[in-house]
Amino acid sequence: MEHILNAVLDGSGAEEMRSLPVPEEYRAAVILEEETEIFHDLPSKEKDPRKSIHVQEVPTPEPGPGEALVAVMASSINYNTVWSAIFEPLPTFGFLQRYARSVPSAAGHDQPFHVLGSDLSGVVLRTGPGVSKWQPGQRVVAHCLSVELASADGHDDTMLDPDQRIWGYETNYGGLGELALVKANQLMPKPAHLSWEEAACSGLVNSTAYRQLVSRNGAGMKQGDTVLIWGAAGGVGSYATQLAVNGGAVPVCVVSDERKAELVRATGAEHVINRAEEGYEFWSDDRTPNPREWKRFGAHIRELTGGEDPDIVIEHPGRETFGASVYVTRRGGTIVTCASTSGFMHEYDNRYLWMALKKIVGSHFANYREAWEANRLIAKGLVHPTLSAVHPLLHTGDAAREVQQNVHTGKIGVLCLAPREGLGVDDPAFREKCEAAINRFRSSGR
Ligand code: NAP
Repeated sequence: MEHILNAVLDGSGAEEMRSLPVPEEYRAAVILEEETEIFHDLPSKEKDPRKSIHVQEVPTPEPGPGEALVAVMASSINYNTVWSAIFEPLPTFGFLQRYARSVPSAAGHDQPFHVLGSDLSGVVLRTGPGVSKWQPGQRVVAHCLSVELASADGHDDTMLDPDQRIWGYETNYGGLGELALVKANQLMPKPAHLSWEEAACSGLVNSTAYRQLVSRNGAGMKQGDTVLIWGAAGGVGSYATQLAVNGGAVPVCVVSDERKAELVRATGAEHVINRAEEGYEFWSDDRTPNPREWKRFGAHIRELTGGEDPDIVIEHPGRETFGASVYVTRRGGTIVTCASTSGFMHEYDNRYLWMALKKIVGSHFANYREAWEANRLIAKGLVHPTLSAVHPLLHTGDAAREVQQNVHTGKIGVLCLAPREGLGVDDPAFREKCEAAINRFRSSGR
């Protein structure tokens, strides 16, 4: 693999990259089908990704029609890495088997190992038949939307394709390895002012936040909107906060400690709620929601905003907070949800929804266009990566454990082929302009 790394570090062009031999095997962070029962009966928090994620050699896949093989310099941990590694809500091997059955070209995805990872930055190494937009040697990032586009259902909005999958979660050969297999239309230009690990950390969460908050497919945020953002210093939240500030909205950021509160204030948010300090108990017990606490939370938001309720709520904690989110939303406002980290069986009081004409909108990743627009914001320095810590590939399990235990801020990066941090910056002058914003999250990783 060293010859590939050297070629990338030397900035080799298309011909040189094309002439490099591709190794038959590469190192990757995987989970194993034979281990899907190892956490049987344990509570979710005790299912430790350090036990289920292994870094080992896997056979290199051949890029098929419309695909590309990428030399991965860096990747990042997403919460789907955690879900995959604790085999919740389902082991991902069922997804791989279904994908392998769906089209002949996907047969190779059904393996006893699953290479995780839904982000990457790197260099194109090989392209399969029919790829014209990308060629070996180009520096890229990848978004994680894999679609077949064989059905008309996905032609207006690629997320509506019936064969829509999240690469590295519902497909194999994801970004947490020295190589990765992508559909070539997942590739986007790497933002030139960022290092490999900075460039690799935004794709999934930034695109998700963009669709959820800005796109008309989500909440369609406008200037002046009050936006309640749960987990505002986390993956999705740290990008939603930037998008709200940039777009002239007024974010109300919820976090659970002062370090995170400072970070979101530094991003330009004025209104911050420390949920740990306030001690909200949105449930009296496991089965009984506590509307008095929803009211106390709503009153706090009004106190901060001068009496305004949120036009938009960025929801992802799920069961724990959903009742409160529906309650505090403004008449006619939108609760837009992309996840259920604390449990997917939600309870809320429907009277507050229908009588006040509120909307609940489901949102999932982003379509091609939204992913490109989100990447363009990063490339223009209008949204910055929120990378706080970086681990070597060998320690992917530790990195996933940090995210599972919520001791991280922003994003956690993983170095794949990149031998150290800070490499890959192609536009140092522009970088200098963005440096302070990029560094905001860097010292906060524990
Ligand atoms: P993350 O980096 O762990 O951030 C989540 C934040 O939520 C945490 O920082 C935490 O902030 C807050 N939080 C966690 N549990 C909470 C609770 N019970 N009540 C209130 N706040 C809570 O994760 P992420 O990358 O933002 O992802 C969040 C969720 O969205 C995950 O379930 C992930 O799988 C999902 N997701 C879905 C999509 C999609 O396309 N559908 C895309 C990206 C992510 P504080 O402790 O500071 O409050």
